[in-house]
Amino acid sequence: MKDYYQILGIPRNASQEEVKKAYRKLAHQFHPDKTGGSEEKFKEVNEAYQVLSSEQKRAQYDRFGSAGFEHAGAGRGNNTGVEWDFSNFGQGFEGVDLGDIFGDMFGFGSSGYGRQTPRGRDIAIDIELQFSEAVFGVNRTMLLRKTATCATCNGSTQEPGTKSKTCSHCNGSGSVHETRRSFLGSFTKLHMCATCHGTGHVPETPCHTCRGAGVAQASEEVTISTPPGVNDGEMIKLVGKGEAITGGIAGDLYVKIHVVPSKKFSRSGFDIITTLEIAVTDGLLGAQKDLETLEGTLRVQIPQGTASGSILRIRGKGIPRQRGGRGDLLISMLIKPPHKLSKKAKELLEELKKEGV
Ligand SMILES: [Zn+2]
Ligand SMILES: [Zn+2]
Repeated sequence: MKDYYQILGIPRNASQEEVKKAYRKLAHQFHPDKTGGSEEKFKEVNEAYQVLSSEQKRAQYDRFGSAGFEHAGAGRGNNTGVEWDFSNFGQGFEGVDLGDIFGDMFGFGSSGYGRQTPRGRDIAIDIELQFSEAVFGVNRTMLLRKTATCATCNGSTQEPGTKSKTCSHCNGSGSVHETRRSFLGSFTKLHMCATCHGTGHVPETPCHTCRGAGVAQASEEVTISTPPGVNDGEMIKLVGKGEAITGGIAGDLYVKIHVVPSKKFSRSGFDIITTLEIAVTDGLLGAQKDLETLEGTLRVQIPQGTASGSILRIRGKGIPRQRGGRGDLLISMLIKPPHKLSKKAKELLEELKKEGV
């Protein structure tokens, strides 16, 4: 944990003016181009200033410490595509948005070019599954309207069979420099060349389908295979099935699962619960009954003396688990007394009553 106040050598109650003053002094002292300068210390000072000069960030730091800011540490310039140019150091303090500059430099602000390959947008869709489809898995083919890699040029942007030439905008480097000046000197930032999408070359004849964009709006068939055992509300990620982008990688497709409630079956963890209606005598005497399950008819042995609401557990007939094995099928017994009794049935029951049944 860094102490930004200590780095700038100021008390915790220092005014904004004092923060600025201390920073200017130390930024000059540690400037890498100076004798006794240190890039490490210079960046540390900048980081401290970046936080303490902002009321909001300072308040956050005072409460939570530097953890949220430290990713802006030293050496970042080497892999962000930011180049340091100190040649104009010391010129002019005016008219510069410091937050903006250091935001770019230290990763507080917008994402800088070079940190990663451009990535297409993610797409989120919803699909509805029947109970049994969720249990056993299903393949669902959908037509998705999205920005897709151009089928004619396969994303190359050039008409098939034609050649490419060096991009004149970036001279084939794939990136362009943007120089910004501040009182610390001018900073050169690298941007991806928008003309060639960072590839360094452009087509001599642009693809006629996408007009050289490399991508086009298209309806693409996507087959979604849901794994067995998915539950309502779960999300499936299909890597690279999102929107395409020229010169980069496609985004991902997120599929949210909605399971339509079943009248016959419900789910509890990896167990499936269903109800079996039986007659009073079935419960009293025991019986064999046929039960409709997700996998066809199952003959169920009802033990003698089964009460309404008792549960019969059939092992391994529940929902498949990702790591193998399945939950159980729980059968809830529901004894349905008859609505009407015949005269004979009544007499027999009276007899049973005498027997204490
Ligand atoms: Zn094309
Ligand atoms: Zn270019």
